[in-house]
Amino acid sequence: MNSFSTDVVVVGSGSAGISACFELYQKHVPFVLLEKGNKVGGAGKFGAHGVFAINSTEQKKRHVNYGYREAFNGLTDYNHFFVNGELLARFLKKSGANIDRLAEMGLPVTVEQSEQKAHLNDPLVYHKFNNFKEKMTNWDKLPDKFTAAGNKVMLETAAVDLEYDNGLKAVIAKNKAGAEIRIAAKKVIFADGGYCGSQEMMTANFSDTKALLNLGERKSTGTGIRLTHKLGADCRHRPVLFAHGGAPSMSINPMKRDSAVETLTNLPLLWLDQTANRFVNEDVVYDFAMWGNAAHNVNGIYYVLLDQKTLDTFKQKEVNLEDTFERQFCDVGQTPRTTVGPLPNIQTDFDEAVKTGEVVKADTLEEIAQKLQLPYSSLTRSVNAYNQAVKQKEDDTFLKPAAELLFDVQEGPFYAIIEHCAILGTLDGVNVDRNCQPVKEDGTPLKDLYIVGNNVNGLYSDGYPSYEGIANGFAFVSGWIAAEEAIKSLNQEEK
Ligand SMILES: Cc1cc2nc3c(=O)[nH]c(=O)nc-3n(C[C@H](O)[C@H](O)[C@H](O)COP(=O)(O)OP(=O)(O)OC[C@H]3O[C@@H](n4cnc5c(N)ncnc54)[C@H](O)[C@@H]3O)c2cc1C
Repeated sequence: MNSFSTDVVVVGSGSAGISACFELYQKHVPFVLLEKGNKVGGAGKFGAHGVFAINSTEQKKRHVNYGYREAFNGLTDYNHFFVNGELLARFLKKSGANIDRLAEMGLPVTVEQSEQKAHLNDPLVYHKFNNFKEKMTNWDKLPDKFTAAGNKVMLETAAVDLEYDNGLKAVIAKNKAGAEIRIAAKKVIFADGGYCGSQEMMTANFSDTKALLNLGERKSTGTGIRLTHKLGADCRHRPVLFAHGGAPSMSINPMKRDSAVETLTNLPLLWLDQTANRFVNEDVVYDFAMWGNAAHNVNGIYYVLLDQKTLDTFKQKEVNLEDTFERQFCDVGQTPRTTVGPLPNIQTDFDEAVKTGEVVKADTLEEIAQKLQLPYSSLTRSVNAYNQAVKQKEDDTFLKPAAELLFDVQEGPFYAIIEHCAILGTLDGVNVDRNCQPVKEDGTPLKDLYIVGNNVNGLYSDGYPSYEGIANGFAFVSGWIAAEEAIKSLNQEEK
């Protein structure tokens, strides 16, 4: 077996891993970065648009009246006190300085209003990458910096095991050709991004796994969680899915916006669950996380129901509803469009989607019920109640705003878009202490091991909160904390 040694092994080069490496690089501590993929960067590179922070230089300049007290109390309350208080505190206190660090890494961000219509009046905490493409390019440049300083970056090489005996002896990795490599090391930082790529772990935790559109980092298969758990790390926590909106297909990205079918699922039309009942105020579409949670709560699939008249209206007219993803795709400073349509290709897009099975079309509601195996009586009851709400401009059950009660569902042909809960990853894993070290059930840390980003428990009780940028912000900061602590521990051991 090929073998060599280093001080620290970092597993994964997404937000948490690249951040850990940057700290080690700046402090001249030798390290090896293992990345399963053929390029650096996980969800943090290909997906995330920004990070959460408080007390950043720019926030201070702009006199943002939202600081540690508000964020700590807010997140603790939000999660019903199911939080790792010390870790949350440490994350928040470093989140502002993390913004300057991101600029040093070549990944600059700017404070922006929330990208979500539901949160336009929230305090300015979201820091958006100035230029998404540039972020990707600059991320790719970091390995050269690291290797020029004498460190190793090993692509297409995954961590698969640990040698551990009262402390870390070595990390065992496997390259693409299947060859094993033994890396003798003093510390390891697991930044491998959770477990949304492990069908086995997903199925064990989420009953609607098969229905989910997984937009997360599929190379994240729970390596760090499993290996630290094997050594006694406490993984007791309820599963937390990073649900985020929905999409009319299992194979397309809803944020690409190249089909009118997707556009219509990004609006507050009539939504029915798999028992043909309304289940939520569809205005939730304007809050990505809550929208995803609502979809997850009805077992991952719901239907958007409309009739031909509605489809024709979107084809011909500009409709006073905002596409929920509009703001996400605006560059910093760009004014978002607050209407949708006309959508000249809508009929073709729907006809195409009927062929692929993403949309079900029928002349009658009875036929819709048959095709989707819905109870017909519930379907007619729900449609009648909704039509009444549209007519009266008052939804006294789900309380959808009158301005969104625009389209009743009256005459066939009818269309039902089959909408899947989309996910960006998983947000539970290992219990850690304030230094991002995995702890055993008695609370003692596992020596030499660190685990960060989407791999850890402690920030979320049961779902992703409506605090934009928390996951990515935490990933960068936790990687930074783990590297700092690993260095501190190395220095102490040397004395
Ligand atoms: C489409 C999308 C949009 C998002 N938008 C936002 C946003 O705007 N704001 C926000 O806060 N969050 C957002 N997120 C979530 C955010 O990106 C993640 O929470 C964050 O990237 C987690 O960081 P991480 O380092 O834990 O994992 P990742 O960034 O996913 O990195 C994990 C890395 O580990 C590698 N890896 C896995 N297993 C191994 C192994 N055994 N050996 C070696 N390498 C391994 C993977 O290949 C990957 O490169 C988004 C996610 C997605 C998917």
